[in-house]
Amino acid sequence: MPDVDVIVVGAGPAGSCAAIVLARAGKKVVLIERGPFPGSKNMYGGVVYPRILDQLIPEWWLEAPIQRWVTRRSTMIMTDTKALTIDFRSQAWGAPPYNGATAYRPDFDAWLADHAVAAGAELICSTTVTGLLHDANGHVSGVVTDRPDGELTASVVIACDGVNSFLAKQEGLYGEFDAANYTLGVKETLALPKDVIDERFGVRGTDGVDIEIIGCTGGVNGGGFIYTNLDTIAVGLVLKLPKLAAQKQRPEQLIARLKAHPAIAPLVEGGEIKEYSAHLIPEAGISMLPTLAGNGILLAGDAAALCLAAGIWLEGVNFAMASGMYAGQAAAEAIRSKDTSVAGLAGYQRRLEATFVLKDHRKLRRAPELVLSDRVQHLYPEFATSVAERMFRVDNPEPKPGVRKIVAQERKRVGIRRRDLAKDGLAGLRSFG
Ligand SMILES: Cc1cc2nc3c(=O)[nH]c(=O)nc-3n(C[C@H](O)[C@H](O)[C@H](O)COP(=O)(O)OP(=O)(O)OC[C@H]3O[C@@H](n4cnc5c(N)ncnc54)[C@H](O)[C@@H]3O)c2cc1C
Repeated sequence: MPDVDVIVVGAGPAGSCAAIVLARAGKKVVLIERGPFPGSKNMYGGVVYPRILDQLIPEWWLEAPIQRWVTRRSTMIMTDTKALTIDFRSQAWGAPPYNGATAYRPDFDAWLADHAVAAGAELICSTTVTGLLHDANGHVSGVVTDRPDGELTASVVIACDGVNSFLAKQEGLYGEFDAANYTLGVKETLALPKDVIDERFGVRGTDGVDIEIIGCTGGVNGGGFIYTNLDTIAVGLVLKLPKLAAQKQRPEQLIARLKAHPAIAPLVEGGEIKEYSAHLIPEAGISMLPTLAGNGILLAGDAAALCLAAGIWLEGVNFAMASGMYAGQAAAEAIRSKDTSVAGLAGYQRRLEATFVLKDHRKLRRAPELVLSDRVQHLYPEFATSVAERMFRVDNPEPKPGVRKIVAQERKRVGIRRRDLAKDGLAGLRSFG
């Protein structure tokens, strides 16, 4: 008999949601976290979309450790001297059932893990899983940890150990590592008084702002973000690894460049750096997904590369919570039917396919490549901002040239071929349409 029914490795959003589901299903579940407490080692940009939690924690918004509710969502396209912003506001997003929220990961992850413990899961912190155990048939049968008496056996192991999952690799569930599939996310947390943040970002109370930026990463392909917390703001970049390695500027220099931009400097001025953090993001979407299940093992969250970074969105926590939840359900089902082989665990893939987790990834399969392409990154921001500049400029005594003429002239000046514009437009429509 195994020591427990399920071992969940990693108490991030994926691991805690898996553990909640399993504990509530009456399974003996152990949640192992290498940090001193859940969330202590975790970083992200700062916006979480917790809608999926409706299924686990009804009215989660009454208790979740939220900083601000995102009621203002902007997408900014910039060059060194210009910026064009689409700025959306909805007061409905500042009231139940809400949409997105800013939250600190040490608070949010610890809160989710508390729910797992309240449901009956055993949480073991400051413990690193160093390998997998296998039975005589080669099925995963438990884990080895860095504790002296560190072996623990289980019917199923759910690897929620984050990006670059060591356990998934050990089990041979990933292909070759390809740096092009990853971006490096870097972030500064800047302290500013709440009233200053409210004034600069045009919000009140617990309303908050999410700004996604393109064209702000110099020669490196990627994107930027600014999110408001109550009395800090998060300013960061995601940077495509091969492009980052191929040039000389360090990530912190690129953030400094963003903070000095005329459209950003007035927002961040005087902010005292409280924290600098960096982390990899599995950014290539469906094309980099590993095999999601093996005999006795499931992968969820970033360990399964289920992060959606498609320009308009940077979502990972919601995909982690959902995939963790579905992994927990599938493991409970497999244990009930006494078949924890790949076939017995097939309910996991079925659930992912039937929901936004894989539907969104399939629909947006072309998006990561398109958004991180050289044209979108380096030519289109110049094109879009120059068209806007000429449209808004009053050039009397010259008469207005008309939008079609401006677009045609700027396209030629920037050096975008009509064929490429049509091709990218179609790819964009197919992805986002
Ligand atoms: C810069 C940046 C910005 C981002 N912005 C956003 C955003 O705004 N919104 C959003 O939704 N997503 C964002 N993401 C993505 C998001 O952070 C991830 O998709 C999400 O954290 C994945 O959750 P997870 O539970 O799968 O993994 P993680 O959150 O990485 O958790 C993994 C856990 O496993 C533990 N662990 C790892 N190895 C072991 C081991 N061997 N033994 C024991 N424990 C182990 C870790 O300590 C950690 O607690 C961002 C990511 C980055 C890097």
